[in-house]
Amino acid sequence: SGAARYCVFGNPIAHSKSPDIHAAFAAQTGQDLVYERRLAALDGFAAAARQFAAAGGRGANVTLPFKLEACALATALTMRAQAAGAVNTLSFSDGEIHGDNTDGDGLVADIVRNAGVAIAGKRVLLLGAGGAARGAMLPLLEQRPAELSVANRTQAKADALVRQFAPLAGAGRLQACAFDAAGGVYDIVINATSASLGGALPPLAPGVFGRDTLALDMMYGARPTVFMDFAAGHGAQVRDGLGMLVEQAAEAFLVWRGVRPDTGAVLASLRAAL
Ligand code: NDP
Repeated sequence: SGAARYCVFGNPIAHSKSPDIHAAFAAQTGQDLVYERRLAALDGFAAAARQFAAAGGRGANVTLPFKLEACALATALTMRAQAAGAVNTLSFSDGEIHGDNTDGDGLVADIVRNAGVAIAGKRVLLLGAGGAARGAMLPLLEQRPAELSVANRTQAKADALVRQFAPLAGAGRLQACAFDAAGGVYDIVINATSASLGGALPPLAPGVFGRDTLALDMMYGARPTVFMDFAAGHGAQVRDGLGMLVEQAAEAFLVWRGVRPDTGAVLASLRAAL
């Protein structure tokens, strides 16, 4: 008996907002659970996760730098985790370790539900080809965009992503492109690079942004990123990654508890505390 136990593993982990988000979800839905931060040693993630499961833990979120290791640790993977090649949500039951990835569906939920922007039939430009971009590919393609173009500093990685997901593109156009050769105005531009972390901006053609463009940076903080400032300066509607963070948590909560919390109030209070 007692509360169901969950945690988030990362290194560093002190600044993770996930415990606050899941505590708010639990209160809202009346679920009896506790959710803690767990610092794992850089060479100690798998042992820490197994130990948490053996001690009765029901599930865990996984953040930097352990998402690939969590994928390897899982004894079964959802399709979206397989496609992402990474796991951010583990569930422990009967000795099995189920690996899932809710980041991409969190992104899509933030765009479609929170920003109110449909992806179906739209032209989408995805910047980056690292872990966050890979995790976004399947959920974005499931929305059936008219076009999904992927631009990355190391273009071979964008080419590889496009090859991997080509069988899932359906009738939509899926292609790699250069940052500055991106063709005309896009409906949605997603920055999945880590360039904003260092205050850098991918060398984008300003013409990718129009008055109706949604420009979303996966990064978030107290100030808009350089990407958000650049996009806003060229007329786009801008959005940071805080909504994606809350929505990936809501998807994980759904995986674990079978109920999807309302995210609006939680997002607003996180925003106010930034
Ligand atoms: P990775 O290290 O896996 O990938 C980094 C990507 O950024 C690569 O495509 C890399 O290009 C590119 N990049 C790095 N620096 C530059 C630069 N100066 N100019 C152009 N491109 C650059 O990181 P992740 O994919 O894991 O994370 C990307 C971002 O997404 C991070 O800021 C992270 O915080 C954010 N994120 C947000 C989430 C949320 O919930 N809001 C969830 C997950 C991630 P190259 O291949 O050429 O090296």
